[in-house]
Amino acid sequence: MSTQTLTNLKIAELLRDVAASYQLQDSQKFKFQIIAYERAADAVEHATSELKDLWDDGKLTDVPGIGPGIAEHLDELFRTGKSKHFEDLMKGIPKEAFKLMELPGIGIKTALRLIAQGDRPLVEEKLKEVYELEKKAKRHLLPYASMIAGEIMDYLVKNPKVKRVDPLGSLRRKASTVGDIDLAIVTDDGPGVLDYFTKYPKTQKIIEEGEHTASILVPGGVQIDLMVQPVESYGALLQHFTGSKHHNIALREFALKKGLSLSEYGIRKSQDPNSKLQTFKTEEEFYKHLSLDYIEPELREDTGEIEAAFRQAQGKPNGLPKLVELDNVKADLQIHSSFDIETSHDLGESSMEEIIGKGRDLGYEYLAFTEHNPSQKGHTDIQIIDILKRKREVVDKLNDRIRRGLLRETSDGHSEKVDQINYSIKNMSIKYNRIGSTPLRPFDFAQGYAGLKKVFNSLEIDIKPDGSLPVPEAGLETLDFALVSIHSSFGIEKDAQTKRVLTALAHPKVKIFAHPTGRKLNEREGAELNWPEIFDFCLENNKWIEINCDPMRLDLPDTLVREAVKLGVKLTLGTDAHHIDGMNNMIWGVSVARRGWAEKKNVINCSSLEGFKKELKRGD
Ligand SMILES: [Zn+2]
Repeated sequence: MSTQTLTNLKIAELLRDVAASYQLQDSQKFKFQIIAYERAADAVEHATSELKDLWDDGKLTDVPGIGPGIAEHLDELFRTGKSKHFEDLMKGIPKEAFKLMELPGIGIKTALRLIAQGDRPLVEEKLKEVYELEKKAKRHLLPYASMIAGEIMDYLVKNPKVKRVDPLGSLRRKASTVGDIDLAIVTDDGPGVLDYFTKYPKTQKIIEEGEHTASILVPGGVQIDLMVQPVESYGALLQHFTGSKHHNIALREFALKKGLSLSEYGIRKSQDPNSKLQTFKTEEEFYKHLSLDYIEPELREDTGEIEAAFRQAQGKPNGLPKLVELDNVKADLQIHSSFDIETSHDLGESSMEEIIGKGRDLGYEYLAFTEHNPSQKGHTDIQIIDILKRKREVVDKLNDRIRRGLLRETSDGHSEKVDQINYSIKNMSIKYNRIGSTPLRPFDFAQGYAGLKKVFNSLEIDIKPDGSLPVPEAGLETLDFALVSIHSSFGIEKDAQTKRVLTALAHPKVKIFAHPTGRKLNEREGAELNWPEIFDFCLENNKWIEINCDPMRLDLPDTLVREAVKLGVKLTLGTDAHHIDGMNNMIWGVSVARRGWAEKKNVINCSSLEGFKKELKRGD
């Protein structure tokens, strides 16, 4: 393997193949190796710096999950293009088997069985599925794309000829996944700035360099396209390259009815090609010229925003929504602490105290501890109740300390490790804010912050295939409220799956349906559910639906958020953090809410603590 092509994606794949090879040899004996390699693969996949760069800087072991052992093999790999240890392990296993493993639900043993059966057409068909999946995976998760864009934007603004930089396209619309990264720049020196752009230190390849545009390739196989424009027509450029194809087509038709034609340079009369081109410095002016109010980028998908902007400009009802903002969020309603609840899923890594400190840093009024339920396999009902009672006591004591002002410290920040590799994306919002392109700002403490007032004792409970909950009644009674979610049997047929969810939601302690579709971006489609039925049930019984802010999930998806908002179903925002750094992911959930037209009033945890308590009581 050439070391040039050793992208994070490739390395993660390789580490998974190594784990699988261990599995094949002896899954008991190599239990720890298997876990270690899978953990390392996860970490590499989520790292926002290229591993090769970290290796260059001698910082390989800074990546959480990469210990000295694995680092040594990776070092050999980067130096020589191969690792003898990996090759020995994988010897004799057909390459196709590793490929097949990329399909959900196929482990190494199943893959080998498939090949051994000798049904070539079936194997070929499966390999084609892998290819399709890989093609889809070329789209980058929003935070990853934002990070790459943020880095190059930081570089670009250092050039004094660059007056302003903005993201374009799906990145500016904050779609859950982003293909190429498109950027726009205001400058009077187009050629000079384009040249500066191609000299970006991370450029691997210049794909194209023209008079107004240039494209480069950076590590991770990410393509960045840049357009330059003088300030007079910058508004038209932004407008032209931000909206989805459908938004732009609809806007063009809307303009044509007024006898106007649109382009990235401005607007002119469509009947008369020689008419003077009207230019626009800002998008606001551009939309205004069409008798429309300004439309936020997240809404530009042609799902009614043009009509709404028109109504609004005329002072009629049913105008554009006043979209929810990060500052409006008063709580995080899904957090996993390290309290040992003896779950069969993953425990959090930060203590409850650390989480409270972090919640304070973020300006929250309250938050909820939502560890996974204790495993039913490993415990009797009595034991489960005991654990939950213990947690209740701990949370009560914490609330007591908060009330008496004894828990004042904020979080002591974050480990240096995490800082260096930008494993989390915590600085993204600040970066964007500084460039002044997008109003993604961190909490504004100037508004008078009274501090974190309360933590709620909650739990994320598995929904069993029959819809029942794996926690006895006396255990549920210890909770302030519960989240339920699907972690298994995603393939159940739609009606039965819907019934399963509604059965679980019906319990009076259950308030939130968490990561409702169960999808994982680029990895797994969600469960099939009858959404109108679920929304109806939520409305009638005051149940809420989560927008999970984990960048891999962003679930409820934006299109379904839109449906929920239309019907008046209440939403919650939860980061699903398993470490305090994960609590920074709130911003991505807010972008999903905005794409779904959600306002402050649609999101439960935009309520003050008092408002939230009232909502909890409603329907009791
Ligand atoms: Zn979960």
